[in-house]
Amino acid sequence: VQDLETDRWLAFNLVRTGTAERQLLMVRDVSQEQQLQSMRKDFVANASHELRSPLTVISGYLDALADDQELDPAWNTPVLEMRRQADRMRTIIKDLLELSKLESGEHTQEESAVDMAGMLALLRKEVMALDERPRNVRLNLESDALLKGIESELHSVASNLITNAVKYTPTEGEMELRWWVDDSGAHLSVRDTGVGIAEEHIPRLTERFYRVDPGRARSMGGSGLGLAIVKHALQRHDATLEIKSKEGVGSTFTCHFPRTRVIPRSAGVLATA
Ligand code: ADP
Repeated sequence: VQDLETDRWLAFNLVRTGTAERQLLMVRDVSQEQQLQSMRKDFVANASHELRSPLTVISGYLDALADDQELDPAWNTPVLEMRRQADRMRTIIKDLLELSKLESGEHTQEESAVDMAGMLALLRKEVMALDERPRNVRLNLESDALLKGIESELHSVASNLITNAVKYTPTEGEMELRWWVDDSGAHLSVRDTGVGIAEEHIPRLTERFYRVDPGRARSMGGSGLGLAIVKHALQRHDATLEIKSKEGVGSTFTCHFPRTRVIPRSAGVLATA
């Protein structure tokens, strides 16, 4: 809680002591922690922003080198690798900026009635078109209900989960997207029969830059921030992420949205008309 008069941040904890009749109210001044956190977030946001322009210049020269017909062929492989690494840097910077926006609570868009079924169908098409291996991603849309939320953030959640499913599934694997509504709310799941994740890693997966196998993950081109983005975007939608996985068998990532965010299709159409 922020005390507006003194501009201090206070944390309150209600603690039960021994018997049920006695309770202790603890008040702690956390202004310094809050200040440090906000300095860290500002620093990350500014640093990523500043890194964008030099990278654009480097990428421009690399593209020109790649197109240069007179370039000594001995440079082909190094130029290709430099472009690949520049792409990785661009992804990391983009994801760092997205994460710092989510953390700052800054709303880039208004909430609207988002057509999740349509979004999943489109994402599936895009992912399959980009997949170097011709594989099918199954689509299981059990509801056409809309979801009250920020479209770009929900898109980011779905896109990160689907990209991971494809990335961590070897050639012969299978993937499935599912969207359904029940009494408890709306749910989106992404299932794969990929490499899976050992149990001890699961609680740490949504930490920034946490990777089960750093070598493999880097070679896949990700930023290591995808699941941190998913977690923060879901928190802003009062939603939770459930991860079930078995090493060598596959993983299922499920997002659970509360009932209060579900908008039946007809009502949604009226609301946006
Ligand atoms: P990355 O860019 O490394 O994929 P993420 O934050 O998206 O970063 O994921 C963090 C880590 O979680 C990955 O490096 C990988 O080890 C693990 N992971 C995420 N999704 C899956 C999946 N579908 N199957 C297996 N491992 C996964």
